Amino acid sequence: VNLLSIPHLSTGEMLRSVKKQDTALSRWVASYIDAGRLAPDHLVMRIVAQRLKSDECRNGALFDGFPRTIVQAQLLDDFLSEEGLKLDMALELRVDEEELIQRLLKRAQIDGRVDDNYDTIRERLHVFKTQTAPLTEYYARQSKLEVVDGMQTPDQVFDAIKACVDRHSH
Ligand code: AMP
Repeated sequence: VNLLSIPHLSTGEMLRSVKKQDTALSRWVASYIDAGRLAPDHLVMRIVAQRLKSDECRNGALFDGFPRTIVQAQLLDDFLSEEGLKLDMALELRVDEEELIQRLLKRAQIDGRVDDNYDTIRERLHVFKTQTAPLTEYYARQSKLEVVDGMQTPDQVFDAIKACVDRHSH
């Protein structure tokens, strides 16, 4: 269901599609993804900005996996204010670490993503804790943060997200 009728922008997907090309840039991007480290902030912001300026995003967009650092959040805020746009809401889906590892290992069997192996997952969780988790505070200060318990059933998670979206749309 596309509740909002706006495009879903996954920076992970965008970076994986860059990785698939055979260029110096793609090999550079691959070195980050395959190690479970974050791609450089300015590169990610440039890719997102390009999409946001396109016609498909005229009614808005849903970010998935972005921003992932305080610097990305600041770059995004700067870009949006230059464009006369604003972020409505930031959503944190909270899942226990053990459950998260199990879900990612299961996805490895289904999607075959090379970064869904145990060592890379551990690195990504470390990166999340040190670089991404501080964003909850950043968006809480802006009164934009919503937290949903991702340990519920998919239907319950969907309903909870819908309620958050309703509270923040106008
Ligand atoms: P994902 O599909 O969101 O799990 O992202 C897969 C990988 O792509 C991450 O482990 C990072 O290497 C890279 N990536 C995705 N989104 C970002 C982002 N916002 N900033 C930096 N690197 C990212």
